[in-house]
Amino acid sequence: MRVLLTGGAGFIGSHTALCLLEAGHEIVALDNLSNSSPEALKRVEELTGKKATLVVGDCTVEADVENAFAAFGPFDAVVHFAGFKAVGESVSMPLEYYRNNLDATLVLCKVMEKHGCRSLVFSSSATVYGTNPVMPLREDYPTGCTNPYGWTKWINERILTDYCFASKDMSVVLLRYFNPIGAHESGRIGEDPSGVPNNLMPYICQVASGKLEKLRVFGDDYDTPDGTGVRDFIHVCDLAYGHLKALEYAVSHKGCEVVNLGTGEGYSVLQLLHAFEKVNNMTIPYVVTPRRPGDIATCYADPTKAHTLLGWQASHTLEDMCRDAWNWQKHNPNGYQGDEIK
Ligand code: NAD
Ligand code: UDP
Repeated sequence: MRVLLTGGAGFIGSHTALCLLEAGHEIVALDNLSNSSPEALKRVEELTGKKATLVVGDCTVEADVENAFAAFGPFDAVVHFAGFKAVGESVSMPLEYYRNNLDATLVLCKVMEKHGCRSLVFSSSATVYGTNPVMPLREDYPTGCTNPYGWTKWINERILTDYCFASKDMSVVLLRYFNPIGAHESGRIGEDPSGVPNNLMPYICQVASGKLEKLRVFGDDYDTPDGTGVRDFIHVCDLAYGHLKALEYAVSHKGCEVVNLGTGEGYSVLQLLHAFEKVNNMTIPYVVTPRRPGDIATCYADPTKAHTLLGWQASHTLEDMCRDAWNWQKHNPNGYQGDEIK
């Protein structure tokens, strides 16, 4: 397959690029580098010995997407990662989020149609389950969101479902990711947040490296075994492999499917923290603070459909995730901007 990865220079995109190249496919990334570095794909090339073409362009600009298709197509399929993803920022900048995350999909679909590319895998999120209290979360459960970022995912799912219904030759897989963490085992590519991380694992990694003083655990009074939030953490390489399986499915079927990508296991914030300490043989200072507004107590997937429909299941353990996240951080204390410590 020859696959276009929008947002392919980002955290999940670069790991998926590597996974697809290793499986013998060709990839082209279209990314405006608003939250990523070309260095990620350079390292993917070094790791695989294969070409990972980067086209610098914006998915909301039709001419940029058209250029990627005209100059580097034809593509058998597209994985659409490109989008803004910071929940808090989406609350203060809703218009930017709706514009970027929705325009990108609308423009992409138009150009795909023009070029006869009929298979699309979309990066959705478990956030579309909103405050649904029944666990594990199944794809047919009710949805609804609590912030603009979530709504952009929800509306994108709606747009793509409707588009697929109207275009009988179209194939779409909507992947609802749970909590991707970790990094490639080489330690050469990983998550490179700008500024102070919002998410738990990159925050722990920066405390471990001494860049941040201590972790703030947001609430220990939830209705969970130890009172801290429970999430379905999934190794980014398992997630990347899920895209390969979704692409294989998409190019050989028609219609729209929504699929959870999670492990099916919930771990608490403190369980993750202690697993990190144990596997990396260090102590991470932390303090319990009040709950973070908008957080829910528990969220984990029922991953049955991914297994039955796509033949996929996660294989990495929580310990693998903690070891690989730290391995990346330790060798790249300043992400892709700084020197790599060999
Ligand atoms: P990321 O920010 O590392 O990657 C997104 C990439 O898209 C970046 O490289 C950015 O430069 C690019 N981009 C943004 N807007 C663009 C545009 N208009 N045109 C071209 N490129 C653009 O994020 P990620 O963690 O790799 O996430 C990938 C996708 O998965 C996103 O859509 C995100 O919302 C979704 N997702 C992520 C998580 C997570 O926890 N990381 C969870 C659920 C869903
Ligand atoms: N969390 C925390 N401290 C942090 C960041 C996150 O205690 O600095 C908690 C958060 O309250 C949630 C879990 O870790 O229970 C996962 O949060 P994250 O932001 O990584 O992902 P989310 O599930 O919100 O998408």
